[in-house]
Amino acid sequence: MDNIPYAHPAWIEIDTKQLRQNLRIMRQHIGEHPKLLFPVKANAYGHGLVPTAQHTADLVDYFGVSCLQEGALLREAGIHNPILVMGAIHAQQIPALAQYNLEVTISSLYKAKLLVEKGVQEQITDPIKVHLEIDSGMNRTGLRISTAPAVIDYIKGSPSLDLVGIYSHFATAATPGDPFFAEQSATFLQFLHQQRLIDDPSILCHFANSAAVACHPETHLDMVRPGLLSYGYYPREDLPNALREIKPCFAVKARVSYFKTIMMGHGVSYNHSYKAKKQSRILTIPLGYGDGYRRSLSNKSTVILKGKHYPVIGDICMDQFMVDIGDDSGYVGDVVTIIGKEQDASITMEQISDTCDTIPYEILCGFNERLPRIFT
Ligand SMILES: *Cc1c(COP(=O)(O)O)cnc(C)c1O
Repeated sequence: MDNIPYAHPAWIEIDTKQLRQNLRIMRQHIGEHPKLLFPVKANAYGHGLVPTAQHTADLVDYFGVSCLQEGALLREAGIHNPILVMGAIHAQQIPALAQYNLEVTISSLYKAKLLVEKGVQEQITDPIKVHLEIDSGMNRTGLRISTAPAVIDYIKGSPSLDLVGIYSHFATAATPGDPFFAEQSATFLQFLHQQRLIDDPSILCHFANSAAVACHPETHLDMVRPGLLSYGYYPREDLPNALREIKPCFAVKARVSYFKTIMMGHGVSYNHSYKAKKQSRILTIPLGYGDGYRRSLSNKSTVILKGKHYPVIGDICMDQFMVDIGDDSGYVGDVVTIIGKEQDASITMEQISDTCDTIPYEILCGFNERLPRIFT
């Protein structure tokens, strides 16, 4: 660990080999035809936006981001893959979206017209590549099916816009057998057939998030957009066996910063929510909720030291927390694993998110920029 920036004593380790393996397995699963869009929004689900893209650019067709800012960071870092901005765009962003050659999502006639007007005002020369978003039932963004044909005609009739994609997003793909999934699926597929978009080779039809990529091959179409699963987490339990070699590549680690022995009955940390049941050795770990290690894990999680679990005790602070190692040995500078595997012991993202009463996505994105990402 000599390459930790500023030798910061807590960090996130990304297993580059496993991440790449995950994407290869994904590619094998989808077969020859569909393109692979790798969602790297929200700092690549906490893995680190730029290094994640740099380490995977040769394995994926597209990157998916949520906003201009993320796309610009990728371009500034020298990423040349097509990049789709999946979130909404705003009028002031249009010149930069064009300058960085980002593909944009259009989900209303208003936004399509805005692109055309700004294109004229700003003298943008190359047509802007757009993907039309259809709302097939998520009720977040996207055009209703009834209004979509007019917008398609408008885009096709605008020389400054190039319609390269059309997509929709599932609301309930992670729930096996959910009846609304079938309804949403039928709605969008029927629309693509009716409008003859499905067999237009110049337009990428795409629909599937992780859960649909894994379990519904009929939704793969021309491109898939698996985020969570590409990072190694299962969106649902009934995955096909071929995908079960996909594994997490993300670990949180830190070096012990302090050691002391406390007496029976003494309280630890704010509010003394933990009291030692006997004389005990206590380690301090330099990581806290200020890094994204949730305070609701206080007295509920463990860390792994030399292959063994030890309880997180007392309230987790902003920048540190404590661990009770009983009579065992552990010293300043020792490395502990807070999420991940060490020898035969492991603490999974799902255990952490269950304890926090949330989903792995939110825990992953919650780890912020203070922790360096080390790609091993
Ligand atoms: C985030 C996102 C995805 C990826 O979702 P996962 O559940 O992580 O696979 C796909 N499509 C769109 C439009 C998204 O915003």
